[in-house]
Amino acid sequence: MIYTGGTIGMKQDPDTLALVPFNFNQIQEEVPELRKFGCTIDSYSFNPVIDSSDVVPSFWIELAEIISINYSKYDGFVVLHGTDTMSYSASALSFMLEDLEKPVVFTGSQLPIGMLRTDGKENLISSIEIAAAQDANGRAMVPEVCIYFESYLYRGNRTTKYNAENFRAFRSANYPVLAEVGIHIKFNTSFIRYPKEWGRPLRVNKGIDTRVGVLKIFPGITPQVMDAVIDTPGIRAVIIETFGSGNAPTSEWFVKSIKRAVGKGLIVLNVTQCQAGSVDMDAYATGVALKKEGVVSGYDSTFEAALTKLFFLLGQSNDNDIVRQRLAHSVKGEISI
Ligand code: ASP
Repeated sequence: MIYTGGTIGMKQDPDTLALVPFNFNQIQEEVPELRKFGCTIDSYSFNPVIDSSDVVPSFWIELAEIISINYSKYDGFVVLHGTDTMSYSASALSFMLEDLEKPVVFTGSQLPIGMLRTDGKENLISSIEIAAAQDANGRAMVPEVCIYFESYLYRGNRTTKYNAENFRAFRSANYPVLAEVGIHIKFNTSFIRYPKEWGRPLRVNKGIDTRVGVLKIFPGITPQVMDAVIDTPGIRAVIIETFGSGNAPTSEWFVKSIKRAVGKGLIVLNVTQCQAGSVDMDAYATGVALKKEGVVSGYDSTFEAALTKLFFLLGQSNDNDIVRQRLAHSVKGEISI
């Protein structure tokens, strides 16, 4: 159990009523149920713990290293993480952990674990059960980076935080849940990703290149806004967040800007602003124009997965053409092709 920070590990200071992180070594006191598990649970706490709004790529590397160093000692890992950027971290780790054969289950909560109505206890307890679950051959039931939240287990790189208040905070709109927790834990084995070959050692891909710009398209967007992103010094790629199935304005200046971006060698990756469904640049003339200029499809990727996939692929190669080709394939089940 790796505690990185976030609401789950906080409790109310009885004097000030403010939320403060509790000493994670005392987790057994907060969650006495942990003693009932028939397995050994060790815990590790980041120091300092962080609000997940402060997550940066070096944090992902640290987290991946902790998992890698301890990999052979444990059957699975539960990462306690703030919910705000949990989908980014789970997506990033899915690309960074190569040949993963053990569960890495991210979880957190909307209410601190020390509060009466907390959702944190159930989230934590079920996450541990899932991280420890093995089949008859002693292999992990879910050898993936996933997020467990409020009765559902999701593939991490398919999730988005979509609700800031509800206990059901996450959604995986374009991919089925990997498990449902009720009286029993029902694993949807046909949707879980298994290693092609078991027994390979875990490798950590630490190369992350963050030279990416993001351009959200909106009615009324101006050339100045476009140019500010496209001309950001040093960037190698731009994610354009488009309408519907990957559509954008057809005005001459807009198409010219896109052409200029591609002509400069930038990777322009098209991700839809919609929560569900896929980019299809053949569906409308507006999308066809983008495809013609060399824009790459993000398919049904979440924004979080598209961004971290770019970070990862750019970190693997200095050649943007190679990255463009690799974007068209699923690396860790993040797109449905
Ligand atoms: N701001 C917190 C975080 O993401 C919220 C949470 O933990 O749910 O770290």
